[in-house]
Amino acid sequence: MSQTTNLSQIYLDANATTPVLPQAAQAAMDAMQDLFGNPSSSHITGLKAKNLMEQTRQRAKTLLGTGEGKLIFTSGATEGIQTGILSGLIKAKTQIKKGKKYSILYGSTEHKAVPNSLAHWNEILGINAEIKAIPVDQFGKLDLEFIQKEVGNALMICTMAVNNETGVYQDLQQLEQCIREGNSKVFWLVDCVQALGKRPLNLAKTSIDYAPFSGHKLYAPKGIGFIYIREGAPFTPFIAGGGQESGLRSGTENLPGMAALNVIFQMLLDTDNTTFYDLNTLNDYRRQLSHSLSQAFPDIVFNHQFNNSVPTTLNFAVPGFSSKEIMDLFDAANIRVSSGSACSSKVTRSFVLDAMGLPVWQSESAIRLSFGPAMTQEEVDSACARIRSAAKALTNSCLMLDDTEQTQDKTPLNGLVQLRSGSSCTWVYADMKSKQALVIDPLPELEKRIDTLLQCQQLTPVAILDTHGHADHISGRVALANKYLSTQQSDVLGWPTNTKKVAVGDESFSVLTIGELFLVKVPTPGHTDDSISLLLSSDPMNLITSTRYAFCGDTILMGSLGRTNFASSSSIDMYHSLKQINRLIGQQTLLCASHDYNNEFTTTLSAEVVRNCLLQSVLTGSINQSQFAARKADLDSNLNDETGTEILCGAYYGDCDKAQIKEYSSDSLKQRLTVSSDVKILDIREPHEYALQHKLDTVSEQSSTENSLNTGLNIPMTRLVQFIQEHQMEKESEWVLVCRSGSRSMVAAQAMYRLGFTNVAHLKGGYALSS
Ligand code: PLP
Repeated sequence: MSQTTNLSQIYLDANATTPVLPQAAQAAMDAMQDLFGNPSSSHITGLKAKNLMEQTRQRAKTLLGTGEGKLIFTSGATEGIQTGILSGLIKAKTQIKKGKKYSILYGSTEHKAVPNSLAHWNEILGINAEIKAIPVDQFGKLDLEFIQKEVGNALMICTMAVNNETGVYQDLQQLEQCIREGNSKVFWLVDCVQALGKRPLNLAKTSIDYAPFSGHKLYAPKGIGFIYIREGAPFTPFIAGGGQESGLRSGTENLPGMAALNVIFQMLLDTDNTTFYDLNTLNDYRRQLSHSLSQAFPDIVFNHQFNNSVPTTLNFAVPGFSSKEIMDLFDAANIRVSSGSACSSKVTRSFVLDAMGLPVWQSESAIRLSFGPAMTQEEVDSACARIRSAAKALTNSCLMLDDTEQTQDKTPLNGLVQLRSGSSCTWVYADMKSKQALVIDPLPELEKRIDTLLQCQQLTPVAILDTHGHADHISGRVALANKYLSTQQSDVLGWPTNTKKVAVGDESFSVLTIGELFLVKVPTPGHTDDSISLLLSSDPMNLITSTRYAFCGDTILMGSLGRTNFASSSSIDMYHSLKQINRLIGQQTLLCASHDYNNEFTTTLSAEVVRNCLLQSVLTGSINQSQFAARKADLDSNLNDETGTEILCGAYYGDCDKAQIKEYSSDSLKQRLTVSSDVKILDIREPHEYALQHKLDTVSEQSSTENSLNTGLNIPMTRLVQFIQEHQMEKESEWVLVCRSGSRSMVAAQAMYRLGFTNVAHLKGGYALSS
């Protein structure tokens, strides 16, 4: 069965959901069109529907070995989980002895439906037992000693057969022994969602009380699931009403869903079926996919062991790449995988991998690749080929080195690159002609990426610099300088000794040359006493008109000023430094800070004074140094350091409201393009995403939206600052930014708008919604 839904997509996210198998879809369609009766009706149409329902139930019971236990249909596993937990806890409540303390146990890697339901019903039912997470070891195996110790006082225990993020399975026999030795009565729910079709289950042979399942994880449609209830286990209907399912679960049954499940069960039961592949084949698929991944990303780390996980799930991380980057890369190669982490607000880690005690970077960069038992060899082959070409695209854009191939046609780097880790920034400037580079504020976590970039582009750094001694992190400067500039004498920030001086007015500054440009060092103490600003200019004698970029560290941050409440800070010094910067640079000079807390990329003095009244007061001379110091101290005292792992280096003064950016749908954009030839499309995806997409379009000979939009310019986010610098004369032009999903294009459009690109728009939903 093809997992693909169109010619080129390879869908490898089966643990999230699966496509509906054509045979199952056909059965559902037949049920909607022919067997549409209500199973409760006593006429022939109703009886036929009921017959289909009972046949499905019987097949499920046979498949799962439910014996005398009950099997009732639900809307999915979340409902099944509620049903099991509610039933168990209602009964447990009646057994509670006054004065005794109870707990409820669940595996720390459970799907959130389990702990959230436990907390919910524990509170609603007024049980108030202590809910405890059972730890797992580094391999994801439940801590049996913990269970042994705790289960005696437990009212209920919830574990999972197979983990949805890692595919790790538990030894249910061993687990049962441990649970029952400690407590023969405790109600035991096993979430079997990810085990269906992948692990043998013989439920009535166990003392599992409740086992919820879901149809959409195994080729049936969404909205159908079922739960097994052990014979004799307490049961309370979760939904009351018309008395369907013998009163155990009311509501008119989802017959099309059951019809689809019926076909799936039939195939699972039929040993001659050719749709689902056996364990050996699936193991072989895993071997091929993991081999291709390891070849493509030689540093790859798998986040689980293969000997205790189902072969259909691969969870991995690639050092130096965030999960978002790999997701974007795979999406461009038209392979659908998922990030292993919960990407809500600032939580970008996987709680499952955290529970396993894996290093933070592995949890943050986790990618899950999962497939179903209907995966074909042909699909595995094309997935492997796509993985290889995705990696090749990364080496071509100098994000990975390829030792085997020295003659790739890489576009030479020329100009400014902004690299980020969290909200901290590293700046790399490359001069294509001289092959020289500058590295400013290298973050230690970006060391490898910077090193790869320098090697791949064959660049020689003239200096590797910090703009100040950073309080929030150790600089990656020394390690890189040791590698590239071991013979260079420099000061503590990396500024080479014995550089030339240049006179500007009655002052003189040290200067370095890079290609045809000059880097001027200006002391700007305040945030720290060693803070400097680095002005990259084409003419050091005319800094105001010729400074393209001012790397000002934490002195001026976007929407704020660097904090001045460190031991080595001085707000009075900052006051003078701000004036100094204002004297030296022009209104168009782009300020490149070492933090970007709000995804704004870069700024200018003129853009800052509009929203930063303190800076405005300093630059217009309306306050003196002591008034500045007083207001600054007040602002710094409101700084909240408790925002995650980063120390905030400046208080935010400006209002955070983002501009309302004009949005196009793909249709309205195409229409706009037909009436105006002046619209400029700016594709802001990374070059490897762009290259992969073009390659796919050529291969599939499909005309994608991308082609029809005739994207002339590919400016990735890392190069946006240079683009802004070079297109200052085109601020009135009609720019439309596009990316994969519309989120990067929105952020970048807002940044451009703030800097005066008044006619900027973006493609809402990106290419994802356009193809
Ligand atoms: N349990 C596990 C292990 C799952 O993977 C999922 C789905 O992601 C659920 C429960 C919830 O299933 P459903 O979507 O059917 O409510």
